Amino acid sequence: MLAALAGGVGAARFLRGLVQVVPPEDVTVVVNTGDDDWFHGLLVCPDLDSVTYTLAGAENPETGWGLAGETFAAMDALDRFGAPTWFRLGDRDLATHLYRTQRLREGGASLSDVAAELAAAWGVRARLVPMSDDRVATRIDANLPGSAGVTELRMQEWFVQHRSEPPVVAVRFEGAAAAAPAPGVLAALDAAETILVCPSNPVISIGPILAVPGIRDALVRRRERVVGVSPIIAGAPVKGPADRLMGPLGIEVSCVGVARAYADFCGTLVIDAGDAGRAAEVEAQGVRAVVADTLMRDARVAAALARHTLDAVA
Ligand code: GDP
Ligand code: CA
Repeated sequence: MLAALAGGVGAARFLRGLVQVVPPEDVTVVVNTGDDDWFHGLLVCPDLDSVTYTLAGAENPETGWGLAGETFAAMDALDRFGAPTWFRLGDRDLATHLYRTQRLREGGASLSDVAAELAAAWGVRARLVPMSDDRVATRIDANLPGSAGVTELRMQEWFVQHRSEPPVVAVRFEGAAAAAPAPGVLAALDAAETILVCPSNPVISIGPILAVPGIRDALVRRRERVVGVSPIIAGAPVKGPADRLMGPLGIEVSCVGVARAYADFCGTLVIDAGDAGRAAEVEAQGVRAVVADTLMRDARVAAALARHTLDAVA
């Protein structure tokens, strides 16, 4: 049994490699839901869907979100009504959100139930679990150009609508303190031979998962069995706005900053070969550094990285 903490794209790429080197059925993936939000009356869960679609081999490799070969006729039709369409939802992707929203509205099904149903329907054999069935919403306080003071933005407003541009002042995970880990999450973390922290955004992908009461403590207890992969290579994220969140929150944008942020619960960190020169600084944080090729150019590199990551704590 393995457990993994996952955000969206970075995690999905890593997990696609992981399920090539271990039986997928042995992996429980605990997925961030802080990015979830409502659009056009539908609940959208970007990270759960990115992981599901990627493990199904159906993801759009160019955008990093949504489905390959997607069309956007529904968005174009919504434009006619002047509905806000800055958050792009493809026609086939919409079916996921329609199904999920309807299942939740009927009552009786939890987000975890629906995540499992969607994954099964896509032929995904790993177990995908949202971090919580309770609503946790990432909020970003940022300085919007032209407006005085700080504006509270929903995560997708900051990230998509404003292209991660407004300087970040603070990040909050609304609802986290009152949220419970989804059924099976703590048991999976306790039972896992190894707990993997995927190369995901430390602030808004891993951060919300750790903010759900009980999860960080479970990792702290298993610290020697926890291994992370740095999402930061050579002082920059491979993709996405991690630098624009880490910097303002006082986390150095480097594998050393990741090590410092994870040190209390993560005993080992895999850093990129290009960062080998910083291994001693990682170790000075009390985190064992293991060097590997961590830029997942394709599924083969991802599989080799997954193997390396598991071996790091074998
Ligand atoms: P999101 O929710 O879709 O933004 O996905 P994640 O939080 O899971 O992934 C974003 C993080 O993944 C970014 O910080 C990237 O630097 C990292 N990432 C993406 N591709 C790679 C890769 O090939 N190697 C490593 N080490 N990190 C990656
Ligand atoms: Ca995300």
